[in-house]
Amino acid sequence: MPAGVVNQRAQAVSHHLSPHFDVGYPSQSFLFLKTLKEDSKATQQHVAQAKLPLRIVVVGAGLGGLATAIALARRGHSVEVLEQASQLGEVGAGIQVPPNSCLLLQRWGVLEHLGPHAVCPESIKFRKWSNGETVGYTELRDMEHDFGAAYLVCHRADLHRSLLATAVNLGVEIRLDSKVTNYDAMDASVQLSNGSRIAGDLIIGADGIHSHARAAVLPEMGPEPKRTEFAAYRATIEVRKMKADPALRWLLDKPSLHIWIGDGSHVMAYTISRGEAFNMVLCHADQSDPATWTQDTAVTDMKNHFASWDPQLVKLTSMIDSCLKWPLKTGARLRTWIHPLSKMLILGDAAHAMLPYMSQGAAMAVEDGAALAVALNDAADRSEIPAAMQSFEAERMERSTAMQEASRANGIIWHYEDGPEQIARDQGMRAEVEGRPFSWSSNQWSDPVTSWWTYGYDAEERMARAMRVGKVSKIDVTA
Ligand SMILES: Cc1cc2nc3c(=O)[nH]c(=O)nc-3n(C[C@H](O)[C@H](O)[C@H](O)COP(=O)(O)OP(=O)(O)OC[C@H]3O[C@@H](n4cnc5c(N)ncnc54)[C@H](O)[C@@H]3O)c2cc1C
Repeated sequence: MPAGVVNQRAQAVSHHLSPHFDVGYPSQSFLFLKTLKEDSKATQQHVAQAKLPLRIVVVGAGLGGLATAIALARRGHSVEVLEQASQLGEVGAGIQVPPNSCLLLQRWGVLEHLGPHAVCPESIKFRKWSNGETVGYTELRDMEHDFGAAYLVCHRADLHRSLLATAVNLGVEIRLDSKVTNYDAMDASVQLSNGSRIAGDLIIGADGIHSHARAAVLPEMGPEPKRTEFAAYRATIEVRKMKADPALRWLLDKPSLHIWIGDGSHVMAYTISRGEAFNMVLCHADQSDPATWTQDTAVTDMKNHFASWDPQLVKLTSMIDSCLKWPLKTGARLRTWIHPLSKMLILGDAAHAMLPYMSQGAAMAVEDGAALAVALNDAADRSEIPAAMQSFEAERMERSTAMQEASRANGIIWHYEDGPEQIARDQGMRAEVEGRPFSWSSNQWSDPVTSWWTYGYDAEERMARAMRVGKVSKIDVTA
């Protein structure tokens, strides 16, 4: 059958079902309809334009700010991004781009820039901290089939550059050396450190974990999310060095993520930069005050901390010449993300900083941007914008708060010292290691319920559905 006929039919079928039958329980049983739709892997060429194009000022050109700028600009809004730094960049480390974020980047055309620099790992292997034995296993290649987008890993700078290139192509204006010092939510304007004032119809604070926009929205709050009792050493190793050591070459044979777990700590490692660098994040308990930390001793402290771990991991740490020590912080659910005058909101780490244990912090920021653009799309008049912002907040706060919780949960699951809980946990991952069928797993990447909830979430589709359902319930109430 010609593709056009299939697509017409698919549209007819899904138009018939989706507006009238929004499945409100966890189910994948209507996924078959997606197989009839157009190729989801292609960049989306035509997107519904906003009924009321706005002038939007985004504060912060991090991963979240740029993703939000793209999502809004492609729907016809005029977007200006203000960044305090004089040069754009990211920490020299890796980042995982899970399918829920990759799906959006694919649709927006960001993947056309990122693809050549990213690595598509085959699997994630959980290893016992002391001897490297495989205790958990997730096949990542299946994710592209299941969720419509791959599980990628890359260098942060490559992701940032790809977002920037896409944003610039869409006409987004990026202003460097533009530190925002004051927010005026009454007339949706900000003041820069050089005294100039920039106004729009809407201000979006995407200014990261140390956000000042958050304090403007929630004056009763201190600016900082809570420090956890954990810290991370972040480092990269040149793959060339690892290849020279026969005992480590196997780590590079097939691109995979490796995570050593146990004894109150964990280590996440994977290749980035087209396979030229090996990224490592070494998380450990540390209750000391970050103000007392000196980066000079970080490498020695890190090697000492992991000295009794799997000898292969110790060998890897011996190749690290420098590393950053990073305090790990998590936010709690905020009362609101929206200023009472409805001309300003926060998103990304500013709204929901989380432990990196689900590898979802930036992914949540990308989803936020996607959802906000959808929520604003049908507002035909300024009076409709506050309600659109409320719908955005309701959908995104629920999702990101749950992701904060899931991240904390990994900290519990992974950090058990050897003992009864650790044995039971490893038993809970045994089937996936042995290739037997399973209906649940103590590995949240593999557990079918958590995995579908995490990776099977299409932020644009879900926001559109939430808007539809919202409208339906409004009619019901007034009927
Ligand atoms: C160790 C570690 C590993 C992680 N791994 C992953 C992972 O694998 N996958 C994943 O999805 N997430 C991961 N994360 C989380 C992810 O890095 C963050 O969630 C994400 O970078 C947040 O993006 P953001 O744009 O909200 O904030 P940021 O990246 O912090 O960007 C904020 C921007 O705002 C600018 N800014 C701040 N104040 C002002 C001002 N007053 N005026 C103008 N500009 C301002 C800053 O200069 C910065 O450019 C990890 C985090 C850590 C710590």
